[in-house]
Amino acid sequence: MFIMPYDAPPWRPPSEAYSVLLRVTQGCPWNKCAFCGMYKGIKFQVKKLEEIRRDLRAAAQLYGQEASTLFIGDSDSLVAKVDFLVEVLGVIQKHFPSLKRITSYTRGRTLAKRNIEDLRRLREAGLTRLHVGLETGDPLLLEYIQKGLTPREIIEGSSKAIEAGFQLSLYVLLGIGGEDRWEDHARGTVRVLNAVSPHFIRLRTFIPIPGTLMYKRIQEGEFKPASPLTVLKETRLILENLACSSLFLSDHVSNYAYVEGKLPQDKNEMLEELDGFIGEVESSPTLLKSLEERHREIHL
Ligand code: SF4
Repeated sequence: MFIMPYDAPPWRPPSEAYSVLLRVTQGCPWNKCAFCGMYKGIKFQVKKLEEIRRDLRAAAQLYGQEASTLFIGDSDSLVAKVDFLVEVLGVIQKHFPSLKRITSYTRGRTLAKRNIEDLRRLREAGLTRLHVGLETGDPLLLEYIQKGLTPREIIEGSSKAIEAGFQLSLYVLLGIGGEDRWEDHARGTVRVLNAVSPHFIRLRTFIPIPGTLMYKRIQEGEFKPASPLTVLKETRLILENLACSSLFLSDHVSNYAYVEGKLPQDKNEMLEELDGFIGEVESSPTLLKSLEERHREIHL
């Protein structure tokens, strides 16, 4: 059988590895974060409904109608008009009637700007889960990395999303404070996470991407990247101060330690595991070096 190629999102979270991938927008409407090279060179646009229908026909051939999860790209689909998104969600479910989860990336500022009724409409139309990049909750660091939002906005937007009935993932970017600001980064991040209590806290570790502002800052000596040991201590500081009910996940290849569990009940066990690993790294220069080397070799 010949299956039509279609325009799938170039990026998706690891948790969507088996999902139908559908592009409703292309690129990032912000595209200014100092660490991110994901959509550089892609002009942001909302796709036409006809293109989306065509892609859905091809996707249905490829995945089969029994698919149970679908991921919408690119980086901030919720920036599109609500009426349009509701229509798209209807078309999606016609092509895939067995879907149990429809997920999208979005930005904290986009959520903060949306009113709760609009978010409820999207939820009722079938969108179930949102992935949002918090990166850090430290206000100065948010400015430095040009995230384009404040801790207050991300708390406001995230809380609205939860109130509207979405499952919410917040992403934390370990190491983005470097050697100099890791404690501020951890403490600010904890403040936001505790205020929001997202369903999922997903850890990522900063990897300098050539062509980005952070990469340039490192080359020019302005930013001192955090060592693996600093990142592990930062992870510990975050974890020990969390007082929220969330699934704490380390579901990415960029992380130095694999620490996962439910908060609050698994916290002590996770801290013990992490302490054990920190002790091993502290006492083994070889292990430290291998962590550094492995991290350098990751290409995103
Ligand atoms: S991190 Fe997200 S919001 Fe920032 S530029 Fe990249 S895709 Fe856009």
